[in-house]
Amino acid sequence: MKIMLVDDSRTIRNIQKSTLKSLGHEDILEASDGVEALKIKAETPPDLMLVDWNMPNMDGITLIRKIRETDKTTPIIMCTTEAEKSRILEAVKAGVNNYVVKPFTAETLSERIEQTMAKVAAAASG
Ligand SMILES: [Mg+2]
Repeated sequence: MKIMLVDDSRTIRNIQKSTLKSLGHEDILEASDGVEALKIKAETPPDLMLVDWNMPNMDGITLIRKIRETDKTTPIIMCTTEAEKSRILEAVKAGVNNYVVKPFTAETLSERIEQTMAKVAAAASG
């Protein structure tokens, strides 16, 4: 499974990348903002995206709205801070499939990924 990490912090991406690797996910794409994410996604479509909320150039919520204009299916998990949790409904309306509050453990992330992929598979099979 190809997973794209979208976060403006290289440190956070590195942490998330090692968390994903500890879960056996080796096929990882990285983008530092929404603009870069759209460009990479067009060239190499991921099977799952983890998207940060606050980023320069194009933030997470704008990125998700843009993606959902044409792509209703790629699973997206929003990575929020505790403070942004109250805005999660906005993200759900924009089309995210799930969310995870930063910082998260490998266990939590694994659970969220499984949950998300199961939900998307169930929706696809009607
Ligand atoms: Mg950020």
